[in-house]
Amino acid sequence: MKIALLAMGQIAPNILSDVSRTLTAIFPDTTSTVSQEVLAVPQQAFNKERNQYNSTQILNHIQTFAHNHGEFQRVLGIADVDVYASGLNYVFGEAYISGRVGLISLWRLRPEFYGEEPDSGALKLRILKEAVHELGHTLGLQHCTHSYCVMHFSNSIFEVDKKQSLFCDQCYLTASLTINRMDQQT
Ligand SMILES: [Zn+2]
Ligand SMILES: [Zn+2]
Repeated sequence: MKIALLAMGQIAPNILSDVSRTLTAIFPDTTSTVSQEVLAVPQQAFNKERNQYNSTQILNHIQTFAHNHGEFQRVLGIADVDVYASGLNYVFGEAYISGRVGLISLWRLRPEFYGEEPDSGALKLRILKEAVHELGHTLGLQHCTHSYCVMHFSNSIFEVDKKQSLFCDQCYLTASLTINRMDQQT
């Protein structure tokens, strides 16, 4: 599988390269590239009443990028704004099940957001978990009942911290089969 990481607005280059490198270790037969192109977070996704951005609208923006870059099988956008999805107060990310694109936001992953000291190690681990989770959705995975599995639904940062950055055996098998099938088609 060929993944592209796409910065939506300004994202620290070392965060992008770190996530990129670690993703290739988690997904089998996978390469990951940080896109040279940077997209702005679309202003029409901003909701003035909520002071938040609609994640689905940002996701559709990433979809257009993916459409124009057929060389990547998956595109993961990384933003740094507060995002929500319909029916939810906030989200850490969003993806289309079995789609080509996903989005994560760093906004609520930073310890500072919760009044804690900055901790780049903790931040990177959270980013990785959310990146693997959203890419897992694009590989057809739904939420997993195993609380330790990266595909477990996280409603709060507490739950993000509780789960691991890896798939459980079942989710890993499904993800690998999807990647195999995808690679055979190309
Ligand atoms: Zn999910
Ligand atoms: Zn699982």
